[in-house]
Amino acid sequence: MNSRFVPPRRSSRLARTVLVATALAAGTVAGTASSPDPTGGTTSTLADGAPAAQPTPTAASRSTRGREDSGAGTTSFVGWDTDARRTADQPSADGVLVAPAQGRRLALQQRVDGEWLTRSTLTLDHGGADVARVALTRHWRHAPTTRWRLQASATATAAAATSAVKEVTVTWEATDDPTLPTVLVTKDRPVRPAGYEPERLVRPEGPGQAGDVRLVPAAARAIERLAADAAAATGRELVLVSGFRSADYQEELFGRYAAQHGTSGADRFSARSGHSEHQTGWAVDVTEAGVDFTRFGGTPSSDWVAANAWRYGYVVRYPAGGEEITGYDAEPWHLRYVGEDLATYVHRTGTTLEEAFGVA
Ligand SMILES: [Zn+2]
Repeated sequence: MNSRFVPPRRSSRLARTVLVATALAAGTVAGTASSPDPTGGTTSTLADGAPAAQPTPTAASRSTRGREDSGAGTTSFVGWDTDARRTADQPSADGVLVAPAQGRRLALQQRVDGEWLTRSTLTLDHGGADVARVALTRHWRHAPTTRWRLQASATATAAAATSAVKEVTVTWEATDDPTLPTVLVTKDRPVRPAGYEPERLVRPEGPGQAGDVRLVPAAARAIERLAADAAAATGRELVLVSGFRSADYQEELFGRYAAQHGTSGADRFSARSGHSEHQTGWAVDVTEAGVDFTRFGGTPSSDWVAANAWRYGYVVRYPAGGEEITGYDAEPWHLRYVGEDLATYVHRTGTTLEEAFGVA
């Protein structure tokens, strides 16, 4: 790799040791606050971000834009290798060029809310190593693009240096697998297989319930925490109205609504059989104690839920303003568990699930 990369002032043949930077790989890169993410976000593109702050050194190849700092009697170079080989098990791995490397500390940093946060560090202590590898296979995926840079410390013979910024574009991939929290169910995408029922459904413990509300375990645990925190914050009780609904029950429900409001009227607020998120066990309708769920919007509990559900991996699935995209009128009571990473993304970008999945 990097056959075009010649570090400044080191024109002799290089011992190009490839350092597999395990300290910077998967898991660790996501930071300590992030748990392993089952929701399957993917990286769609990897591209160089902003150009280097200074002209690219002529000694560096066109594919390795970095920044060259002079000082301490020698030149150092830190850059990304856009030609890095990507393997099946490290699909988004990027080579990182550091020269000279011996004894330098490499920090991988991510830009979050205007600040550079160090996600991981690595000391390059292999003799003659010029190339390290990092894997950006897991990112904090809270925005459509995330920005990364590398900082290499100074040594007795090399100045400190910072790489160019690398922008990584993030997209989310919807699945048809109803056992995963990233399943996308819409008017156009039915639950598959038809008649699906989750293998395991549990009744959330804690919050009040109108009827027999059951959810898949991950969604149940999350709504328990959400309801407890909502009650503590608002002083009002959050009540669960509806969880899993079978395809048969949904058919009955839609028929009832259609009889009252006509078919096209019912289509605005009720899913047809086989097209309801409730059939997956990942969706729950909530309301405030003493309030009919259709009047949930505007209550203190609803305001709190809209502002905080993402912290528990839930999104308000049918937001006001999203009617054209989701096909449903706003439903502040209908919460959908998608996992904390994706929920955070949806919340921060103010998008719908369809937009996050790129199918809007
Ligand atoms: Zn619902």
